Amino acid sequence: MAEECIFCKISRGEMDTDFIHEDEQCVVFNDINPKAKTHLLIVSKRHLPSLADAKDSDADLLSHMLLVAGKIAKDKELKGYRVQIHTGKEGGQEIFHIHYHLMSPF
Ligand code: AMP
Ligand code: ZN
Repeated sequence: MAEECIFCKISRGEMDTDFIHEDEQCVVFNDINPKAKTHLLIVSKRHLPSLADAKDSDADLLSHMLLVAGKIAKDKELKGYRVQIHTGKEGGQEIFHIHYHLMSPF
């Protein structure tokens, strides 16, 4: 499954994506179809399908990604922003590899 997953491919660096940030646990890049002036995706390197699949052992990864979102917003001096996690088809999730949307009108 992970071999077919677009966000696994991107996070492995196989898609020539420009990363705004990369560390041992996640990558950050621009959403291909932005719904706000700033619209970034914080994507885990490890394949976890969604928040609904998260376990206690994923706490470090999930909190790390949230802190990365906050640090990037600070670096970009965004006056305000939203972080969204679409979860499940009914929650609007299209790509079943966990990611946070960082969106801002600034
Ligand atoms: P969702 O699963 O609802 O959180 O939405 C997936 C998001 O990924 C959408 O906002 C898409 O525009 C975005 N997306 C899909 N494919 C790519 C890609 N190759 N590069 C960047 N963003 C993408
Ligand atoms: Zn994946």
